[in-house]
Amino acid sequence: MWLLNGKNKNVMNQLDIAKFGGTSVADYAAMTACVKVVTANPNTRLVVVSACAGVTNILVELASGALDKTAALQRIDKLRAIHQEIIAHLAPEKQAPCNEHLEEHLTEIRNLAAEASMGRSDELTDRLVCHGELLSSYLIVEVFKQQGFKAEFFDVRRVMRTDSTFGCAKPLVEVLGTQSKEQLLPLLNTDAIIVTQGFIGANSEGMTTTLGRGGSDYSAALLGEACNAATISIWTDVPGVYTTDPRLVPHAQPIDELTYLEAAEMATFGAKILHPSTLVPAVRRNIPVFVGSSKEPEKGGTWVKPETETHPSFRAVALRKNQTLIVLASPKMVGASGFLARVFAIFAKYGKSVDLVSTSEVSIAVTLDAGSNTSGIPSISEDMLNELRTFCHVKVEDKLSLVAIIGNEMSKTAGITTQAFDAIAKYAVRMICYGASNHNLCFLLNEADAVPALVELHQHLLENKA
Ligand code: ASP
Ligand code: MG
Repeated sequence: MWLLNGKNKNVMNQLDIAKFGGTSVADYAAMTACVKVVTANPNTRLVVVSACAGVTNILVELASGALDKTAALQRIDKLRAIHQEIIAHLAPEKQAPCNEHLEEHLTEIRNLAAEASMGRSDELTDRLVCHGELLSSYLIVEVFKQQGFKAEFFDVRRVMRTDSTFGCAKPLVEVLGTQSKEQLLPLLNTDAIIVTQGFIGANSEGMTTTLGRGGSDYSAALLGEACNAATISIWTDVPGVYTTDPRLVPHAQPIDELTYLEAAEMATFGAKILHPSTLVPAVRRNIPVFVGSSKEPEKGGTWVKPETETHPSFRAVALRKNQTLIVLASPKMVGASGFLARVFAIFAKYGKSVDLVSTSEVSIAVTLDAGSNTSGIPSISEDMLNELRTFCHVKVEDKLSLVAIIGNEMSKTAGITTQAFDAIAKYAVRMICYGASNHNLCFLLNEADAVPALVELHQHLLENKA
């Protein structure tokens, strides 16, 4: 309606890309709420969806090859039930073709799961898990139509070119840009809402890849960059970014606005609300990112932007589980040079990014994330450890969690550390990182202490603040 009457240029200047997470597309009612959100904003022309809640987890299990046949069939029944609930709400004449489509996907999933039971691989995992997003996007198109709106399915693999790192593929931004201009942008100028998949992509040979767990946010931001969007909206099940995870700390408060830097620190240090890579494309193009709840859009949300009005010393606290600490000790480190370079060269060779670093005269301690690889299999390889063992003593510790305080001008403000240390005085601290950034102070703690420490930090630093 608003598109073909000469105002379409205007709309394209204001293009909004809306991404809906798994809980936002969990069932028919949730999808209906998404339709309302999308159609309330005439600038939203492109919709990016995750798989329905729980679906990717089931697909990852099937791809692990570890389920016996009965368990695998049970999982497939569960997938059928999740998607049939949506189909059951469609017009009667739509139900048969949609069920047929669902069965085609389920057959493919069953065949791939059987293949995985003979030997899993990241490549096979990606080929299997992509069905989650393919199905949710297919079905939400039908829900749009059911509500009287024009919508069209678009297979994102036509434009989302990645390298071949299955399970954690890197987008090839330039190719994505040219492909989008040719294949996607023209569609955004029509009167249909275009619906596509987050999380998945394809390499140059057309093989399916994934961007790693939770990668749909990243997909939306990449598409926002490629299509020169004015805004990227991330719709989830909480009304914005909170001072910490409200499921862990009931007193957590929503935050109206955050700088890119603060939000990036929060995402990196475990705030689940945004995938850590999401902001990279947004920052490259200065695109503001909105985070809100598709079920309660009236509650507003958080704007993540280049600058904010306030710069509090303490903005949020975050928790990241599954940290692995590697302590490397070399007797030769005393007065020697080149040890760190050698160690980091090996991390680079194995594609490992280091989060925290602390050094002493003869040793270095680093944390590595157990990985967001789609398969969920920790990616700290024995080969890498063996290579390190050729020139130093290697100790690996796990069951650790990272608790991070995120704020502003921290290393320039007196009293920051006292307040933080007081709050967690009860707990043994395995490692502390502070000083490299003005925006964070991190503690590595035993897994069991992490949540209580988070609660204390939140209470001391963020509650009852005037
Ligand atoms: N469906 C994928 C996952 O659960 C991607 C996403 O939701 O962002 O990890
Ligand atoms: Mg998600």
